[in-house]
Amino acid sequence: MSTGATRIVALDGPSGSGKSTVARKVAARLGWRYVDTGASYRAATLAALRAGVDLDDADAVLASVRTARIELSTDPEQPGTWLDGEDISDAIRGPEVTSAVSAVSAVPAVRAHLVELQRVLAGRDGAVLEGRDIATAVMPDAQVKVYLDASPQVRASRRAAEQHAGVTPGGSPASLVSTVAEDLARRDRLDSSRAADPLRPSPDAVHLDSSQLDAAAVVDLVLDLARDAGLVS
Ligand code: C5P
Repeated sequence: MSTGATRIVALDGPSGSGKSTVARKVAARLGWRYVDTGASYRAATLAALRAGVDLDDADAVLASVRTARIELSTDPEQPGTWLDGEDISDAIRGPEVTSAVSAVSAVPAVRAHLVELQRVLAGRDGAVLEGRDIATAVMPDAQVKVYLDASPQVRASRRAAEQHAGVTPGGSPASLVSTVAEDLARRDRLDSSRAADPLRPSPDAVHLDSSQLDAAAVVDLVLDLARDAGLVS
């Protein structure tokens, strides 16, 4: 087992690649912390929306984010997000935040502020962090770096199923899948083309495609990588 730097598994990839499910399960299996960095960007976005600032005004967005108290649970069994003491775990998954988050996360100073928070949340005893820039910017020294992807169709179907499950049981209607597919394509484009830490695979990351794999199979692959890297016995 490695005894030097904090043990870190970095899991990056686009929405719907399955990284949240996989990151939580890997953290739970290892007894490590789980850090959902996307939730921190979503909380920052809700703070900016509630402050009523113009999202094109980077200074105003930053000011609203800096004054907000953003808290995240790092327990993989009980993730949660709070803004100024209020549980916003559901609110940050809504359409208002989802459509505004790419604008807020493109502000470099907002990123710097949140990366500091994300590193504190990771602690020193082992953590699985999931996001877009974990391997490239937040934890460049992570011993395990995985870039998880899936085909656009599979990603859209998964996200639509998650959204639909809360409304009506059964499959997602085709119209919902196509709306979700459009939103994912828009966010992919914005997240990949921004100047500050865009979504892009780290050159030293292991690429996994989850289109044909279920979460359990991906979890096993990531745990194998952690073992190979000497992070766990
Ligand atoms: O992972 P999730 O879909 O919740 O992320 C929401 C948004 O937060 C992404 O679309 C992206 O704009 C931003 N994000 C980011 N860097 C991260 C994680 C998320 O820019 N590490």
